[in-house]
Amino acid sequence: MKVLIATNNSHKADEIRNAIDFPGWEFVTLREAGVESDPVEDAGTFVGNARIKALAAHEASGGMCVLADDSGLEVDALSGEPGVCSSRYAGADGDDAANNALLLANLADTPDFLRTARFSCTLVFIGEDGAETVARGKVEGRIGYEERGDEGFGYDPLFFPIELGGQTTFAEVPQERKSAISHRGRALAELKEKLKVVYNPA
Ligand code: IMP
Repeated sequence: MKVLIATNNSHKADEIRNAIDFPGWEFVTLREAGVESDPVEDAGTFVGNARIKALAAHEASGGMCVLADDSGLEVDALSGEPGVCSSRYAGADGDDAANNALLLANLADTPDFLRTARFSCTLVFIGEDGAETVARGKVEGRIGYEERGDEGFGYDPLFFPIELGGQTTFAEVPQERKSAISHRGRALAELKEKLKVVYNPA
């Protein structure tokens, strides 16, 4: 079965391929499938935006199976921001350096014990028949004071997940170690179990 991943982010695509390793299932990005789909993500929630991306790619591809994700960072001291605006926090979509600099500036006066945050991920899978399967994952942690590490993407160099003992950022560990505890890894594990029930892969 061929599944279109409604993204061109190679980090996300790799994580998805490693997590949902059903025999005979092939995951292709929009670029790889030659499908153009870039809808406005204006739903205001992770599930709403994931659904917008999934439905747009499903239609643009002429009815392929689609997996879409929407994810972001929620910082408690900023009332949940950047949230659904994570990728365009500093304006330009996907400028990680600018987003991280703005986050640090906005937390400049925030003491350690108030720098709590979490990554959240919602996945929406749409089958060829249009049936929808939704899965979610979260990882709790803290925001640091400067970027640390070269792995990963986005806010990884600023995020200290609880599971790594509070001393190591997501950008300082290999992808497999991150995936085992990450919001996307957890959402994918839940989705895998749900898809097993619906599609009964060999
Ligand atoms: P999306 O591609 O619309 O889901 O936007 C997700 C944005 O949230 C990314 O551009 C990053 O800024 C941030 N984000 C989501 N997941 C991660 C992650 O695993 N590490 C770091 N940043 C992330």
